[in-house]
Amino acid sequence: MNSLDKDDILRLDSMMRQAGRVCVVSHFHPDGDAVGSSTAMTRYLRRVRGLDAVTVLPGKAQDALGFLVGDDVVDAGAEAPRAALEISSCDLLICLDCRSFDRTEFLEQRLRDCKAVKVLIDHHLNPAREDFDLVFSETEISSASELLYHILRAMPGIDGDSSRLPLEVLTPLMTGMTTDTNNFANSVFPSTLAMASDLLACGVDRDAIIRHLYQEFRPNRLLAQGWLLDHSLKITPDGVAYMILDSATAARFDLQEGETEGFVNLPLAIREVRLSVMLKQDKEYFRVSLRSKPGTSAETIAREFFHGGGHECAAGGRLYCPGDIGCHEDAASYIERVTARFLQNPVPGKNE
Ligand code: 5GP
Ligand code: MN
Repeated sequence: MNSLDKDDILRLDSMMRQAGRVCVVSHFHPDGDAVGSSTAMTRYLRRVRGLDAVTVLPGKAQDALGFLVGDDVVDAGAEAPRAALEISSCDLLICLDCRSFDRTEFLEQRLRDCKAVKVLIDHHLNPAREDFDLVFSETEISSASELLYHILRAMPGIDGDSSRLPLEVLTPLMTGMTTDTNNFANSVFPSTLAMASDLLACGVDRDAIIRHLYQEFRPNRLLAQGWLLDHSLKITPDGVAYMILDSATAARFDLQEGETEGFVNLPLAIREVRLSVMLKQDKEYFRVSLRSKPGTSAETIAREFFHGGGHECAAGGRLYCPGDIGCHEDAASYIERVTARFLQNPVPGKNE
């Protein structure tokens, strides 16, 4: 990661000094980095700065992340009036792991209308700088949680000594970094391992985090995973693996939000596979997850063909039905057609 600008840190510190109420937000379908970075920020503001702060998430955190969620987290889907009040009454708004307000879906307009001073802390490509008064953007980093870790360490009063931050700040930071690196399998930089080492030395219980994240699933998850690998997985001659989870199958396995997290990574275990695509049927669209091996840009494919984006090797988006395809049965041929076109004649991405 590049070194942080001292003036930006001082500006953030000054915004916090002047703030009365702070609202911390992150993206729709909040994942480990979204929940980890936003709860860490809120707890820093409350416990270290003594501020009135709250996290507002556009949706429920997955069950595996429940250990990070306290009464300082509002699910705007379930508590719409409270979320609206928190957003309209704050004078400092901090957006984490979310490159633009449109990634908050139904909260977008409220956040745009909010009159507060706005700060973005993010690690995605193409951040919407114009919507914010202060932007911390770094893409050569594991996660928003790692970026926040470096920012908090640089704050006056912490001065590079993480042990001055409470465990209720450090634990979510370790969690967000762990999930966004897929437990140290990708997006790991020297700064990431230095962070992990520092947090362990500060007493973060990594074993407990791993247990919560990866060892407390219901059997349904494994059964659905087995079914998908057995019945849905296809691999094209270009090395594109894809799986499609329709609503009926999701219902048959009683899958809850977040229970398919990580499935998209599995086909990357196969030597020939350079891109893995997972489709999950939602209302009028399929949610699309993409993962690639270095040299193939999941981000470009998400942007070009699935109305999305993300990171070079981990991205997401949507496939509208009707819209992009006429009926659900056309999803497979759409994936095969666009990926073949792209891989045989690539639009230049970062790695191409
Ligand atoms: P996942 O596949 O885990 O849902 O998402 C992988 C990455 O792509 C994450 O960094 C996430 O923020 C990003 N991403 C997921 N869905 C979308 C989307 O609809 N639009 C954009 N721009 N990024 C997305
Ligand atoms: Mn992230």
